[in-house]
Amino acid sequence: MMTISLIVPCYNEEEALPIFYTETKKVLEGMECDHELIFINDGSKDGTLSILRDLAAKDEKVTYLSFSRNFGKEAAMYAGFSNARGEFVAVMDADMQDPPALLPEMLKKLMDGEYDSVATCRKTRKGEPPIRSWFARMFYRIINKISDADIVDGARDFRLMRREMVEAIVEMGEYNRFSKGIFGWIGFKTYWLAYENVNRVAGETKWSFWKLLKYAIDGIINFSQAPLAVASWFGMLMTFVSFVAIIFIVVRRLAFGDPVTGWASTVCIITFIGGIQLFCMGIMGQYISKTYLEVKKRPHYIVSETNREDMKRIK
Ligand code: UDP
Ligand code: MG
Repeated sequence: MMTISLIVPCYNEEEALPIFYTETKKVLEGMECDHELIFINDGSKDGTLSILRDLAAKDEKVTYLSFSRNFGKEAAMYAGFSNARGEFVAVMDADMQDPPALLPEMLKKLMDGEYDSVATCRKTRKGEPPIRSWFARMFYRIINKISDADIVDGARDFRLMRREMVEAIVEMGEYNRFSKGIFGWIGFKTYWLAYENVNRVAGETKWSFWKLLKYAIDGIINFSQAPLAVASWFGMLMTFVSFVAIIFIVVRRLAFGDPVTGWASTVCIITFIGGIQLFCMGIMGQYISKTYLEVKKRPHYIVSETNREDMKRIK
């Protein structure tokens, strides 16, 4: 019998977890394949861990990995992928925003054999603040233009994948992880399933606007070298502009004998160029800092407690 592994990152989800468990279990029990649930407690500060202990005690299909601190959802997903044993693997949020009711349909699509993964995306951005939608759309437009990982607008991390794909993801051992980009980069045939956005059942989102913005910038830096070229383009542009300015000044001096006047213009030019230089150095700095974190080869996560001894505790 085939097994489906569900990876569930949890960070302060004590309110949503029991609902998630009962609802998902209902769907899984109605399916023809076997299942395992892998919960990752990402350093929660509430009662998440004790709920997970209880679930694991009464249901042998439940595995939990508890991180020694909050490592972020990306690290939690990586821990799940590294430890999932099923032929089919899916990541799901604990807040019911990824409806478990879609699972049978997704599995059926995979069983047909034509696709390697079934991914989900939201149909509309209804119920989201307009400014946030605008930034999101801009982000997708930019990243698709300048990187080779094609990322669908509104894509969720909720997707069901075959083993081969999961192995490719685990092989992508980079420290700065951006799953939406990784999924796109590894390729494989993906079927997109759109559904209407669902609100969180309980608790609140862990993503502030600034966290999302930082995540978006990280995504661009992780999957594109285009920003690095910005410095060269500015350099060429400024060289051209200054060349024109030199000719202008020389001609004016010869034709009209006009002495050089005004320090205001000089100051403007100096601050303008200074600004561009710092901006470009900042871009380079971003790449260097990523490289710095990458070469240190620190583990993605550290598990301090689990109910299964064969789990990879540090990776
Ligand atoms: N999450 C996590 N670690 C974090 C932040 C979030 O494991 O540092 C989990 C969280 O518990 C949830 C999922 O990632 O299961 C998505 O988080 P959230 O619902 O807050 O994000 P949103 O749906 O608002 O984008
Ligand atoms: Mg959510």
